[in-house]
Amino acid sequence: MLNLIIFGAPGSGKGTQSTFLEKEYNLYHISTGDVLREEIKKESATGKIAKEYIEKGHLVPDELIIKILSDVLDGASEYNGVIFDGFPRTVVQAEALTDLLHQKGQEIDLLIDLNVPEEELVERLLNRGKISGRSDDNETAIRERLKVYHSQTEPVVDYYKAKGKHLPIEGVGEIEEITKRIINGIEGALNSH
Ligand code: AMP
Repeated sequence: MLNLIIFGAPGSGKGTQSTFLEKEYNLYHISTGDVLREEIKKESATGKIAKEYIEKGHLVPDELIIKILSDVLDGASEYNGVIFDGFPRTVVQAEALTDLLHQKGQEIDLLIDLNVPEEELVERLLNRGKISGRSDDNETAIRERLKVYHSQTEPVVDYYKAKGKHLPIEGVGEIEEITKRIINGIEGALNSH
């Protein structure tokens, strides 16, 4: 089993890199942002709640997202593991994930931490907003998402550092180059265990 977290600020390339890593390692890709956007499209009860938070650039409540994650995780059984994209975003979520995996006799192997300078994040997100149609890719929501990232999400790094699972990756450059850096980092970390 290989359970990875792809981590980083909004716009750091988590979704893009996930699509390569899921193929490389036959992983089940769970993007909580994608799940929420689906729920909004379906106009489900969950979607209606989530919409309010997402549009403001805020995190949806931990209990709601942990419930969603635990339901989605059941779809992972036919894969070699999971790539978690956009989850966990708080230390409470990280603790819940440890418990959920523990119940299956599993754990997180690595948190891949994509490092990208703030100015580049804003530029990427504004450019993405021109084509994505995402309600939160506008300047006000982007600034708020970055603030929330620093205050609520960044502490998750320390949680995995303490477990010796932190893999920092320079997230600037050609997409294929970054994928190579990640794969080399994963192989290095797994072989050293
Ligand atoms: P993303 O597509 O990962 O950028 O997520 C878009 C938005 O969905 C975020 O800004 C949050 O409002 C919400 N969201 C996604 N994942 C989570 C999570 N793990 N915890 C709380 N909110 C989340």
